[in-house]
Parts: sequence; structure tokens; C-alpha cells
Amino acid sequence: MNAVVHPGETAAQAEIPALRRASPQVFSERARRFARLAQGHPMEAYLVFMGHLAAAQQIELAADDPGFAAPEHDVLLQMRRAGRPPLAVDGWLRARPWQHVLLRLLAAVAPHGPALMRPVIDRLVATDEDALEAMARRALRGADPMRDPVVDPLVAAALQVHWVRLAAALDTDDIVVPQPSPLCPVCGSAPVASVMHGSGAVKGLRYLHCGLCETEWHLSRIRCSHCDDEKGVVYFAADEEQAVVRAEACESCHSYLKVVHCDKDAAADPVADDLASLSLDMAMAAEGFARSGPNLLFVPGEDIRTAN
Ligand SMILES: [Zn+2]
Ligand SMILES: [Zn+2]
Repeated sequence: MNAVVHPGETAAQAEIPALRRASPQVFSERARRFARLAQGHPMEAYLVFMGHLAAAQQIELAADDPGFAAPEHDVLLQMRRAGRPPLAVDGWLRARPWQHVLLRLLAAVAPHGPALMRPVIDRLVATDEDALEAMARRALRGADPMRDPVVDPLVAAALQVHWVRLAAALDTDDIVVPQPSPLCPVCGSAPVASVMHGSGAVKGLRYLHCGLCETEWHLSRIRCSHCDDEKGVVYFAADEEQAVVRAEACESCHSYLKVVHCDKDAAADPVADDLASLSLDMAMAAEGFARSGPNLLFVPGEDIRTAN
């Protein structure tokens, strides 16, 4: 018999894992997906570049970084007592290893970027630590009008590597998963997309995918991830019924988040497939819906609306 999650049913009731930790190969899988999605795409050059960036992220993640320190038990305990996610952004930005990751990522992607990126990279390399930290805070704010479309995605790519590494160092016991939770129970970030998993005996498993630490947490299938409404959820897709990416929109709060169907294509990736379907975001803006969770690797223009 197939295990299917119904609205209102919790992960525990259905014996479904509440949390899916990031794959140790998350960035190389993403790099392959970008390369695949780039073929024949109107934004081919951009997606190819993003594939190079993801490949460089994987090299960084796999490298043994001597500057990296696993989260300290006392700090994790403090966060827990304060009712906060263990790797909430505020508490861990001051750790500087992410800035070293950024410098190495910049060196790796510079030969693959467009000419206009070179002076930006040169300026970033010469930026001092405090200014980089300020840039990190800006890059993590989804709808900040001051976000920089070239700088912020590069900064966010380094932060993703750092947070995936921090998250991998956590024990499962360090993480409390409230049900339902609109924000990542590991780092408190908004989801970049929801992801449908499942095949064979277990189908219809819906998770939200963190845009920073790549953790996924379970959510009932038919429910607005932004305002928790269960009634007014409608779906939009750019083309056919079998679309791997659809937009799940809520008529209560007029927000939407994309649903990426790994159950239809196991190679689909919430970050790469999101960036390859920006035309769907524009269509949603035209329908009057605002996006509820940002993709940290992309700064939208005025043709895409954001909810917060
Ligand atoms: Zn997270
Ligand atoms: Zn809603």
C-alpha cells in the first residue's frame, strides 16, 4: 500500500522523516542540473555560468577548510533555550570562514563570468571583513531594494557553502522541527521552493527546501507555506500537465512558491529549476501574486514581485 500524506496529517503520524539533511553532493548534483537545463534554454549562458558556480561550491564544500569550526555545544544550547533555530543567521555570520570561501569561489568562477563581472570581482576581493559582513546581511534579505544583482548572488553562494557545512556538523537531536513551520528549523531562512519527493511505495512527500542551508522539512501537501491556509491553494504551470515546476499560489495571502517535482524527475533541483523557470515568476506577477521565498542566487527585477 502506498503511504500518502493527507492535509492535516503530521510527519510523525505517517512515519515520514520530518527532516531531510542536505546531500553531501548537493552542489555537484546542482551543477549537473544547471548544465542539463542550459541546453537550448533562452538563458543558456547564464545557466551555464551558474553551473560553474555550483561546481565551485562543491569543491569548497568537499575541501578540508582549516578555518572551519563546528558549532559549539554551549551556543547550540543557548539557541535552543531561546527558542531559536540552532544555526540562525545572526549568530553565525561573525564567524569569518565564509569570507575565505567567498574569495576562493571568486577565483574559481572569474574565468567563466561575463566581462562585466570582472571589475565587480576585483572590488569584492579588495573589500574588508566588516563590509563583507554587511554585504552578507543584505544578500540574505530577500526583498531588500538595495540588493546588488551581481554581488549578492556571489556572496550568497559562499554563505550557502558555509551553512551547509555548519548544518552537516549538527546532530539530529540539535534540531527541533515544529509542525507546520514556514521557516527552516535549522537556520530560520525562508524556503526557496517546495519539493515533491517519493516513488514506488512512498508517494506525495512534500518538503520545503531551505534556500541557505539546503535542509528540507516536511509540510502537509495542500497548505499555503506562507500563511498556513488550506483552502485557497491553486496551481499554475508554464506548459503541460507533466511540468516539473509549478507555482503553488494562495488566494488568501496572494503569495506563491514554486513546487519542484523530484517525483517526476529525480534530477530536478529546487534552486536550479527555479532559476530556469523565471518566466513563470513573471507570469505569476502578472496574475497579481508575490513570491514568498527568495532564491538567494538571484536578485529579481521589477517584473517579479516578492512578498517580504
Ligand atoms: Zn536552513
Ligand atoms: Zn497563503
